[in-house]
Amino acid sequence: MSDYDFDLFVIGAGSGGVRASRVASAHGAKVAVAEEYRVGGTCVIRGCVPKKLLVYGAHFAGDLKDARRFGWKVPDCAFEWPVLRDNVLADVDRLEGLYKNTLDSHGVELIPERATITGPHSVKLANGREVSARHVLIATGAWPVVPEVEGAEHGLTSNEMFHLDETPRRLVIIGGGYIANEFAGIFHQFGSQVTLVNRSSTLLRGYDESIRDRLMQISTTKGIQFRFNAQLDRIVKNEDDTLCVHFSEGDPIPCDVLLFAAGRRPHTGGLGLENAGVEVDGKGAIKVDEYSRTSCESIYAVGDVTDRLQLTPVAIREGHAFADTVFGDNPRTVDYDCVPSAVFSDPPMAGVGLTEAQAKNKLGTVKVYTSDFRPMKNVLAGREERALYKMVVDATTDCVVGLHMIGPDAPEILQAAAIAVKAGLTKQQFDDTVALHPSMAEELVLLK
Ligand code: NDP
Repeated sequence: MSDYDFDLFVIGAGSGGVRASRVASAHGAKVAVAEEYRVGGTCVIRGCVPKKLLVYGAHFAGDLKDARRFGWKVPDCAFEWPVLRDNVLADVDRLEGLYKNTLDSHGVELIPERATITGPHSVKLANGREVSARHVLIATGAWPVVPEVEGAEHGLTSNEMFHLDETPRRLVIIGGGYIANEFAGIFHQFGSQVTLVNRSSTLLRGYDESIRDRLMQISTTKGIQFRFNAQLDRIVKNEDDTLCVHFSEGDPIPCDVLLFAAGRRPHTGGLGLENAGVEVDGKGAIKVDEYSRTSCESIYAVGDVTDRLQLTPVAIREGHAFADTVFGDNPRTVDYDCVPSAVFSDPPMAGVGLTEAQAKNKLGTVKVYTSDFRPMKNVLAGREERALYKMVVDATTDCVVGLHMIGPDAPEILQAAAIAVKAGLTKQQFDDTVALHPSMAEELVLLK
């Protein structure tokens, strides 16, 4: 008999927490997971999944226009935001149900309450009940940063964007990262006038410069407006409920909705970390070792709350590796090398491995191959938009060390190509593969 109520108590039923719970349970552990909001976490409830569905919904704006060039008699079509919104939210409900079923079928006890840590082996639930566990896993994710300026309460975060009553006529987005560029693309296609404002002069820091420049050029051509090096000063709400966003320099920008997309901070507030000596770093992220163990021996943490790579598949791997290590007698770490990522902007971009600048810094001599082309579909549709693929190669070994692309379906294409980059294949091995014609992906084996 265990001395504890549970072998594992998980705080947070998002991607990392659910995976860890069910795998630990399959290894024979008695598991409970506490969730104060909804099962599925950011990805399923208010992130990746509903966002991607909005991306699909938004794409019809261009597709319906293009269809005429392909011979379809398309009448003038109106977009009804409430229909898409409600269908997306219904799908989120469906997925939450599936996540709950998974926990249930694995015998994991779901406790729909907030839990706080009271000691190395104890957790207190919102109803006052104290629970003990041999191990505690913190998987509470991250939370949007809201800049501390006057009137910030008038702005929204990505959490609320899925629930808008109507699409805004004018949308101002603070930030120049993933969420800013994804929502800019989505709402521009829905007909909103979008202005993206960033504190620096850089969009999507960390992505390859040529690819970022291409997104900026395409977005500007489409009519998305940008303002860089702008410091937010205050937000004023007018009598008619519209907003005016003021900056320390330059003209204020009027809008109907203001979205903060200025990063996401590890969600550790009020979690009681100090009661168990769980240390955090300067950004508030829980410090962990390669096995996701915190500074308290019995407590582990996975996912965005550790701020290693804020990506769902990474959190899932961390949760799985934790469960195998602690309950499966199979110590495993996560390999963070060559993790592919994508921005579902319009058009989307994706990358894996080193950017050209990173490769030059790390390797000295690199060879860079690019294909700058107008996708066949864009040509017939009369769209000027060009795709750009870039391959970065170690000049000494001929190994492909980075692949970066922007263009239709870039994330779908890159996921497959990332296997080759991860496997350390050479440029010659890409070239040895016969092209699949006609496709956009064939550019990857035809790079000169
Ligand atoms: P990002 O980290 O991508 O970008 C944050 C942006 O906000 C940057 O442009 C940054 O400017 C700016 N910024 C940071 N702090 C402030 C501030 N105090 N005031 C004004 N601007 C500021 O954050 P997101 O919120 O877009 O996304 C959070 C994370 O979620 C991402 O890092 C990503 O890991 C994940 N995510 C992944 C997605 C995907 O995989 N497709 C989609 C959405 C989110 P600068 O860098 O110029 O200083």
